Amino acid sequence: MYDVAIIGGGAAGMSAAIYAARGGMNTVVFEKLSCGGQMTRTNEIDNYPGFADTPSGAELAEAIKNHAGKFDIEFKNEGVKEIRGADCSVKTIVTRRGEYQTRTVIFATGASPKKLGADGEEKFAGAGVSYCATCDGAFFKNKDAVVVGGGNTAFEDALYLANFCENVYILNRSKRFRAVKTLVEKVKVNPKITIYTDIAVDYFDGANALERVYVKNTATNERGFINASLAVIAIGITPDSALAKSCGVETCERGFIKTDMYLAANLVGVFAAGDVRVSPLRQVITAAADGAVAATSAVNYLNGVK
Ligand SMILES: Cc1cc2nc3c(=O)[nH]c(=O)nc-3n(C[C@H](O)[C@H](O)[C@H](O)COP(=O)(O)OP(=O)(O)OC[C@H]3O[C@@H](n4cnc5c(N)ncnc54)[C@H](O)[C@@H]3O)c2cc1C
Repeated sequence: MYDVAIIGGGAAGMSAAIYAARGGMNTVVFEKLSCGGQMTRTNEIDNYPGFADTPSGAELAEAIKNHAGKFDIEFKNEGVKEIRGADCSVKTIVTRRGEYQTRTVIFATGASPKKLGADGEEKFAGAGVSYCATCDGAFFKNKDAVVVGGGNTAFEDALYLANFCENVYILNRSKRFRAVKTLVEKVKVNPKITIYTDIAVDYFDGANALERVYVKNTATNERGFINASLAVIAIGITPDSALAKSCGVETCERGFIKTDMYLAANLVGVFAAGDVRVSPLRQVITAAADGAVAATSAVNYLNGVK
C-alpha cells in the first residue's frame, strides 16, 4: 500500500514526490513516457531560478530527476488507465502491468499541445506538421518553416528554428501577441524571421510531406500560400485531465482540475498540481511549487492535520 501515488513525472510530479518522500510517506510516481514532461520540449529555460546558464528543458528535467533520485521514491514507467474508488480512503490505481493501492492520489498529468483543427494537419503530422520545434526542427535544416501562434512558445520556437532554417514565418491570427516584450523584440531584429499578423492557416498541402501552408487574412479574407517544409503549431495547451474526470474529479469548462488553496480536488485524498489544474500561470516554477503544496497537503491529510 502506498501513502502517496503521483500520476505524472513532470516538474509537478517530481517535486511532489520529493516533498512526499521527505514527509516520510511511501511514495510512487507513475510516468507513461519518461520523466520530464513538457519542459523537455524546449531548448532553453531562461526563467527557472538558480539556473542562470539557461539549461535546455531536458537538462533541467535531468537535474530534477537526479535530485528526486536522492530520496526513497519508487518510479514506475507505467501509464495509469483507471483509478477505482477514487472517493474512498483506499484507492486502486490500474495500469497495464498491475493494480496498486494508495491512500492519496496527486494528479500531475500536465497538458498537451492544442491542435489547430485545419485540413491536412493530421495527414502531415510527423511529415512536416509538428507540435515541438525542439524535437523536430533539426530535421529541417536550410528549409523554410512557419510557426503558428503568438505566445511565448511560438516566439521561442521561431528563434530556435532561425538557428538553422532558411526563413521562418510567424503566423498570428490577430495583431496582438501574448509573447513577452523581450521575446517579441528579439524576434523583430532577427533577419530570418518574418511576422505576419491577421493571418490564419486555411489548410496544409503537399504530396508525401508538407510543402505549402495555405493561409487567409482574418481581416480581409484574402487567401494565399507560403512554401514551407515545416509548420510548428504553438497555440497553447489542453489539460490531460480525462483520467481525473473519469473518476469524478471536478474540472472547469476548459477541462482544468479545480482545486482549493491546498490543491485538494473535490474528492477526499485527491490533489492536483501543475499545468493540469486551474491556475493563472503554467510554468516549470509554478508546477514545481504546486507539487510541493499538493504533497504537503497529502502528508497533512494522512497525518490527520489540515
Ligand atoms: C515548448 C515549450 C516551452 C516551454 N518553455 C518554458 C520555459 O521557458 N519556462 C518555463 O518555466 N516553462 C516553460 N514551458 C512550460 C512548462 O514546461 C510547463 O508548465 C511545466 O513543465 C508543466 O509541468 P507539469 O508537471 O505540470 O506537466 P507536464 O510537464 O505536462 O508533465 C505531465 C506528465 O504526466 C505524464 N502523464 C500524463 N498522463 C499520464 C498517465 N495517465 N499516466 C502516467 N503518466 C501520465 C506525461 O507523460 C508527462 O510526463 C514550456 C512548455 C513548452 C511545451
